[in-house]
Amino acid sequence: MISEAELLAKVPAKLYIGGEWVDGTSGRSIEVHDPATGEVLTTIADASPADGTAALDAAVAASASWAATPSRVRGELLRKAWELLMERADEFALLMTLEMGKPLAEARGEVTYGGEFLRWFGEEAPRIAGRYGPNPEGTGRMIVTQRPVGPCFFITPWNFPLAMATRKIAPALAAGCTVVIKPAELTPLTTLYFVKLLEEVGVPAGVVNVITTSTSGEVSEPIIRDPRLRKLSFTGSTPVGRRLLEQAAQGVLRTSMELGGNAPFIVFEDADLDAAVDAAMLAKFRNIGEACTAANRFLVHADVAEEFTRRITERVAAMRVGRGTEDGVAIGPLIDGKAVGKADALVSDAVARGARVTTGGAPVERAGTFYAPTVLADVAAGSDILREEIFGPVLAIATFTDEADAVRRANDTEYGLVSYVFTRDLARGQRMIDQLETGMMGLNVGVVSNAAAPFGGVKQSGLGREGGLEGIHEYLDTKYTLTPL
Ligand code: NAP
Repeated sequence: MISEAELLAKVPAKLYIGGEWVDGTSGRSIEVHDPATGEVLTTIADASPADGTAALDAAVAASASWAATPSRVRGELLRKAWELLMERADEFALLMTLEMGKPLAEARGEVTYGGEFLRWFGEEAPRIAGRYGPNPEGTGRMIVTQRPVGPCFFITPWNFPLAMATRKIAPALAAGCTVVIKPAELTPLTTLYFVKLLEEVGVPAGVVNVITTSTSGEVSEPIIRDPRLRKLSFTGSTPVGRRLLEQAAQGVLRTSMELGGNAPFIVFEDADLDAAVDAAMLAKFRNIGEACTAANRFLVHADVAEEFTRRITERVAAMRVGRGTEDGVAIGPLIDGKAVGKADALVSDAVARGARVTTGGAPVERAGTFYAPTVLADVAAGSDILREEIFGPVLAIATFTDEADAVRRANDTEYGLVSYVFTRDLARGQRMIDQLETGMMGLNVGVVSNAAAPFGGVKQSGLGREGGLEGIHEYLDTKYTLTPL
């Protein structure tokens, strides 16, 4: 296994523009920290707005030739990227653990998941199809073709540093689009190392460009407002997504928005409690609770609430907290001190309104930014924790007695990303599919993400879908032509 220092030395510390690794023009640099220790891991280039424009220039310059590259060739480059990523899986996993904090085993899981987008869209590239047929009047031929939308700008969050990049880059490249990507300042290293991998497998200069910056707003806005840009895809919080949509409205830009969530996890009285507890552990504590798909509100039928709380408390109390590189660690650090403060404030508010802490309930006293895995029972309606995205290892349980009330409460949020339902009753399961206002649903499972599935939300959780058959259409424009018979 490669050492941490050797790995960090392999990660480019520069911007990648037009096939060159460059310092950028700001004269500043960014320190990247290990959230488990607070120590500086490395220092990288800090892009200026001029660097952002240069990256877009490069994506625009490469656009026509990449669009004209045979889809099979584009697909095979993605396949090669997947193969090389799998060879380097341990390195990418360690890098994510270092900059983001997630336990190594989960980081390995993200390499598999993130890699699947390269494999899936590599296979989809040659299947971009059109349509042909006579019009109903019998007077003309109707021809429908698909073209790449053109240069794209991607803004990604810190919580899944690899998968959020591959989920956008892979379909864009498959469709024939060129890309500028801006990862989060807190976790830029994985994207830099991944873009180096794309360079190694032969993705041509200018097709993928990466800018890292400490001034995301200043650097992004000119790119979004540039009339040469054809598509913005953003994954992050709903407030930032709203702001970017306003900027994108100016140029009537195509957008995909993967925003925040407030997932309900409903346990009915007839649920298989063993399965529900196993799934709850995953749905809540995977990625230290820092996932848009994390179960945020546990709505448990009053008849089984005590048993569910007892079993889940036992499991959570046994979770080991530590640096993600240590054996057996299930809970790493939160991304920063602000995240710890937010989790703690939500717990305090719930307790002040009558919730019981059955385990955890406070920051962990050690270097880094850790919060103890926590279970709250009897959370009262109106508590902040039921309304806001927790983004931390806190499991909040409220009870219900009536199915219609559970549905009403589950839907009582501006978010609509994912829901989880546990029931053995097939008819009730079908009703939940129809009635829960979310883009995705786990019916008796705790994780739904899959490269072959359309990932995305409704309401203020976003616009568009990533992955699945749908994912590539985010990067294609449909053109209809009529010609006489
Ligand atoms: P965030 O603060 O919205 O940041 C996301 C990205 O936007 C980062 O790259 C950030 O860069 C950038 N950014 C922030 N302000 C910006 C601005 N004014 N202009 C341009 N870019 C800007 O979200 P986060 O805290 O990183 O991520 C957590 C959020 O992402 C949660 O709400 C979570 O639910 C959501 N998420 C959603 C999905 C999904 O698929 N639906 C998946 C993962 C995460 P800097 O940080 O460098 O400023």
